[in-house]
Amino acid sequence: MHRFFVSPADISGDTVAFPRDLSRQISRVLRMSPGDEVTVLDDTGWEYLAALSVVNATRAEARIVSRYEGLGEPAVRLTLYQAMIRPERFEWALQKCTELGIVRFVPLITRRAERRSRDVSANRRQRWQRIIREAAEQSRRSRLPALDEPQTLEKALKSATRPVLMAWEAETIQSLKSSLEGRAHSEADLGTLSIIVGPEGGFDHDEVELAREYNVETVGLGNRILRSETAAVTLTTAIMHEFGELEP
Ligand code: SAH
Repeated sequence: MHRFFVSPADISGDTVAFPRDLSRQISRVLRMSPGDEVTVLDDTGWEYLAALSVVNATRAEARIVSRYEGLGEPAVRLTLYQAMIRPERFEWALQKCTELGIVRFVPLITRRAERRSRDVSANRRQRWQRIIREAAEQSRRSRLPALDEPQTLEKALKSATRPVLMAWEAETIQSLKSSLEGRAHSEADLGTLSIIVGPEGGFDHDEVELAREYNVETVGLGNRILRSETAAVTLTTAIMHEFGELEP
């Protein structure tokens, strides 16, 4: 069944009035008709089964039939601080990590970050939000991952929810597994976690030192150097696996 994220303001009583772009998608792209059922999500964690009541090129509406609690969210709340890399690769990371269950994305400004991409125009931001929304609909998330404004590494290190793990290819001792196991004894609640992934050129030594000053642990992902976006997907997948989120 097709899934659509709307804002809570689009729902009044048991009527959903889809915004213009979704109305167009419902009528023109998906060619749906009144009576067809859809799942509507308002980013509160609830999901609504609804039947389309009005469908035309500019306006689609549906009537809510029932509501239930969504099952699409992982128990572990994982934030990805992803260094700014070439836009198409950054977008790929947004899409894949949404599918895997990241709850918050923070574009990260680092020394060697892709210069062209540092300024995020309103257009680009909208495009990123659309990529996240479509990936969340496709992967049956119950909530939309948040997209923050770009932050410097220093700000991220100061404010990221602990524990924070930084992927660093030169880390030869600490693995993800040992890092998580070490923490399981000291930190009662491992329900939230932040991860930091560097740009194509990697982190400067100074940046790694700074991270350590902020008590951020570096983790190695093996002897192969992964592209930045591959590292993001790999680290996210490995954490989801550790937390039992990749099981039926
Ligand atoms: N330019 C660097 C590699 C950067 S890889 C070099 O050639 O040495 C881009 C980012 O992906 C890194 O900053 C790191 O966060 C992550 N990454 C890639 N491979 C990794 C590995 N084997 N272990 C940990 N992190 C890795």
